[in-house]
Amino acid sequence: MQVTEHVHALRVNYEIRVSPTMLVKRFVYVYFIVGEKVHLIDAGIASRVDAIEAYLAKIGRSMHEVATVALTHAHPDHMGGLKTIQSRSGCRVLVHALERPWVEHTRLQAVERPVPEFERLVAGDVTVDQPVAHGECVELEPGLELEVIHTPGHSEGSVCYLLQGDRVLFTGDAMAFAWGIPIYDDVMVSLASVKRLQCVTDVACLLSSWDEPRYGEDVSRVLRECLAYLQTIHEAVRAQVTDPHAVDPAILCKGVFEQLKLPAVAANARVAQSLMSHVPHLALVDITG
Ligand SMILES: [Zn+2]
Repeated sequence: MQVTEHVHALRVNYEIRVSPTMLVKRFVYVYFIVGEKVHLIDAGIASRVDAIEAYLAKIGRSMHEVATVALTHAHPDHMGGLKTIQSRSGCRVLVHALERPWVEHTRLQAVERPVPEFERLVAGDVTVDQPVAHGECVELEPGLELEVIHTPGHSEGSVCYLLQGDRVLFTGDAMAFAWGIPIYDDVMVSLASVKRLQCVTDVACLLSSWDEPRYGEDVSRVLRECLAYLQTIHEAVRAQVTDPHAVDPAILCKGVFEQLKLPAVAANARVAQSLMSHVPHLALVDITG
């Protein structure tokens, strides 16, 4: 779907086997910035590069025209298809320096942050051409420039990109959407990153990896809702913890999921760690202030 003059959005659907008897439906958005060449924000998963190829064909372009893949971060659903895309197109690869090791040595991530079916999600190692940093402007091609906004929290090196001109903000996984599964390394850092995004002016369209395009005034509304949801989670953690010095992550996770009516099937050790990042801040009633 075309979103703005230069930007197209593709929702990539896939399934993950979380146990021998259970398949879970997932999706992630990949974005195309289309000019003389084509530039991608994120690369989806290894087994769904076909969806990217099919969309390029639909708009009269091809994989050979992909000049850049700019990664928001290095999690498998964002960089899994990168090796295939890079080997077919020769594109340059951008990612924050802190995410670089997991892109260049994917086994490292498989060990440090295992997720179900990692091997099926991630095609392999890719050399990063250009580590990016906060405040930097990257020229994709004449007339198309991406500003880098460092938004840690979901992961240390998560970045958002602002496409100058079209004023499109690509937020990756930096935002926790209301009633979604909370996944962040550190809630307070995540919260500060959302506040950083609130300072970006004149955003015409916000494109997250997990949500439909948001336009105009809806942009500030979803950012406010994101902060409110982090506060709701914080209140649930506060309600569940009686002794901050003796918290069992799995029990905390179960209690918060029941309280917020989140799907029990999505509770796992990573989500439990997200909730544990609230524990040092339990003295704060309101984390958004
Ligand atoms: Zn992620």
